[in-house]
Amino acid sequence: MAKKVLADFLTPQLNELRENGLYNVIDTIEGPNGPIVTINGKSLINMSSNNYLGLANNERLKQKAHEAIEEYGVGAGAVRTINGTLAIHNELEKTIAKFKHTEAAIAFQSGFNCNMGAISALMTKKDAILSDELNHASIIDGCRLSGAKIIRVKHQDMDDLRRVAKETIESGLYEKIMYITDGVFSMDGDVAKLPEIVEIADEFGLITYVDDAHGSGVMGNGAGTVKHFGLSDRIDLQIGTLSKAIGVVGGYVAGTEQLIDWLKVRARPFLFSTSLTPGDAAACMEAIHIMTESTEKVEKLWENGRYLKEGLKKLGFEIGHSETPITPCIIGKEDLTQLFSRRLMEEGVYAKSITFPTVPRGTGRVRNMPTAAHTKEMLDEVLAVYEKIGKELSII
Ligand code: PMP
Repeated sequence: MAKKVLADFLTPQLNELRENGLYNVIDTIEGPNGPIVTINGKSLINMSSNNYLGLANNERLKQKAHEAIEEYGVGAGAVRTINGTLAIHNELEKTIAKFKHTEAAIAFQSGFNCNMGAISALMTKKDAILSDELNHASIIDGCRLSGAKIIRVKHQDMDDLRRVAKETIESGLYEKIMYITDGVFSMDGDVAKLPEIVEIADEFGLITYVDDAHGSGVMGNGAGTVKHFGLSDRIDLQIGTLSKAIGVVGGYVAGTEQLIDWLKVRARPFLFSTSLTPGDAAACMEAIHIMTESTEKVEKLWENGRYLKEGLKKLGFEIGHSETPITPCIIGKEDLTQLFSRRLMEEGVYAKSITFPTVPRGTGRVRNMPTAAHTKEMLDEVLAVYEKIGKELSII
């Protein structure tokens, strides 16, 4: 009987998604997630991954992961607060804090967990959170979990932030007010206006929270968007993921000793979910060492981003206003966007379509994520395929 209840719930919804072309078919990558990937036996130039610096398959990271597995085993054995804190976790947190120029850091099992844990450990139903309307899903869920009043702020609109901050303070209803923003917005590649944000935050006493999942390893010579603007001592919480530029898995918060102390006793994924594996922790640390030794990979990433953007613009594509290597190619209609992406794939370029509800209706796009591991020849091939399919579908 319960099976029928479940099927009655699921069948119409799945059918509706399939009928409207909204059912997400998940591709399987047969091998490493590098600049070239194999899907269904076909080799494709990969323009879809967040592996910004090409570290996900880096030999030094793999070696460190192997060594840590030999030394500690494959699993941490418990949650951090019971007996799952291994020496390598503490080393990782020290390395992150140094890299982010903060007093301390705490590592989580994912960036998603980090937002769920950190926001709900700090904010309560007596508080308000002002949140950029395009913030990532994990921020939205973390805010909901906290029980705080959530007030959306127009995307990157500093006048709206000032107005909302003033109204919220003047209402006298809240004990604390936090402003949360992505450091780099992943759909358009625009960068949070942190210099203006810290001024407004100071004026109204807002706690500042920057999720730099797409900025770490990319902005500020790798150290992130906050470092890029020289604001390390003016942003209260710097959040990051270890899964994108760093190439592994996990997340972190960097901030004061006191803040990190509190998260270690109150952030629920830290208290109730088993710690990062030793292999992951070791690989993450090696990624940070690579970034601190040299800015070569970060520079290559930006060079590739510029090259791709210029090439697409010259061909006549609409590429939006990205300020980072993230390069959206805005097509508009959802069905045309999906067709365009499918044709690119048939011609050897793997660039995923992103449509409503991830982005507003009518702004469907194929999002390109150039990385430091792409060669100029690969990008030339991508541009040639874009030109061919763009003309075929009368987009350019
Ligand atoms: N925050 C932002 C802004 C993100 O883009 C993502 C990843 N899509 C996350 C958090 C979640 O990070 P993770 O994949 O490490 O869970």
